Amino acid sequence: MRTLDSLGPLGSKTVIVRCDLNVPLATDANGVKTITDDGRIRASLTTIRELREAGARIVLISHLGRPKGEPDEQYSLRPVAARMADLLGTAVGFVDETVGEAASAAVAELADGDVVLLENLRFNPGETSKDEAERQAFAAQLAAFGDAFVSDGFGVVHRKQASVYDLAKLLPSAAGRLVTAELEVLERLTEKAERPYSVVLGGSKVSDKLGVIAHLIERVDTLLIGGGMVFTFLAAQGHAVGASLLEEDQLDTVRGYLKTATERGVRIVLPTDIVVAEAFAADAAHEIVRADAIEASTFGAAGLGLDIGPESAAAFAEVIGSSATVFWNGPMGVFEMAAFADGTRTVARALTETAGFTVVGGGDSAAAVRALGFADEDFGHISTGGGASLEFLEGKSLPGLEVLV
Ligand code: ADP
Ligand code: MG
Repeated sequence: MRTLDSLGPLGSKTVIVRCDLNVPLATDANGVKTITDDGRIRASLTTIRELREAGARIVLISHLGRPKGEPDEQYSLRPVAARMADLLGTAVGFVDETVGEAASAAVAELADGDVVLLENLRFNPGETSKDEAERQAFAAQLAAFGDAFVSDGFGVVHRKQASVYDLAKLLPSAAGRLVTAELEVLERLTEKAERPYSVVLGGSKVSDKLGVIAHLIERVDTLLIGGGMVFTFLAAQGHAVGASLLEEDQLDTVRGYLKTATERGVRIVLPTDIVVAEAFAADAAHEIVRADAIEASTFGAAGLGLDIGPESAAAFAEVIGSSATVFWNGPMGVFEMAAFADGTRTVARALTETAGFTVVGGGDSAAAVRALGFADEDFGHISTGGGASLEFLEGKSLPGLEVLV
């Protein structure tokens, strides 16, 4: 992998840096947006500082959220430019378009060490287009701004997108410091993982994450399952799950995983108790029930599981405490609502207390541990990329990295 050093002296060169500045935003009653977790902005600073010290002129590009290929104010990167300026301690310009005359003018005005952030890449349909020509055309417009390209958005390296893949082919390009640091850590979770090795999976993107299980069964000692994917596992074992998240079309796959795990002596730990709610709401009535009797709650078949119960969380914590390596992706429950955050909190605390090497991957998982009051330093590493880290662990080839080899 080509690193920053391969680009040679960058003084007075214009360097385009693809960051992942996709941070969670909250909007108050007056429409004022605040960044609720700036972890990804902080993670991008190392490369930017180094480029500034080298005298480069820096053009930052990123996406935020999932706008549909056209400008959509709620996904503007403007608040990110302001926070970036605070953290860097220097002005960060902002242009409210990605490519066009205003963007060209702003780039042309950069002096050595200056930083400008362009508007959300996904306001342009070319960024995520499946049509290669459309992607390449957009990448060429971006490439025209710079002399070199640095790929530092680890959260998107698994995407074959214009600013990740095509752009890297058009300019001298290299991985930034965040990408190389992330890869160093993830490599410790593959062949080199110290045992016992446990992986905790949760969150809501069930079918996305089921794929990683097939691969992990070959490498881990224990797989702990929480979050939304629990219910597909419980249903696969023949239990009714009420109105909980369920992917019916994955039931056979999950049965296959359970069988393979048994054959290979890999322990799959499922929750034994579940917090079931009357509705998907912060103030919904809720009860703790046995995981095999979800519909036995007061809410019957209408009840939905929104967190793992205390007994399960304690059991998960015990496994984590006796592991030498732990990778965690995906909250155990709907942690954004206080009533359903306990499972995630207990698991997070266990990670901070174990002597083992711990890695937290996933945008929401990282946001969850910070929202619950844990510090980044309490963990071995907090990855900025959920999907990217999972695909790496699955052994898939990541287009955004392949292009830098
Ligand atoms: P990450 O970004 O860390 O990879 P995901 O995006 O897969 O994680 O999932 C995060 C989301 O999963 C959170 O918003 C959380 O509310 C939700 N979630 C967790 N458990 C459940 C559940 N039982 N039912 C519905 N949503 C859940
Ligand atoms: Mg997420």
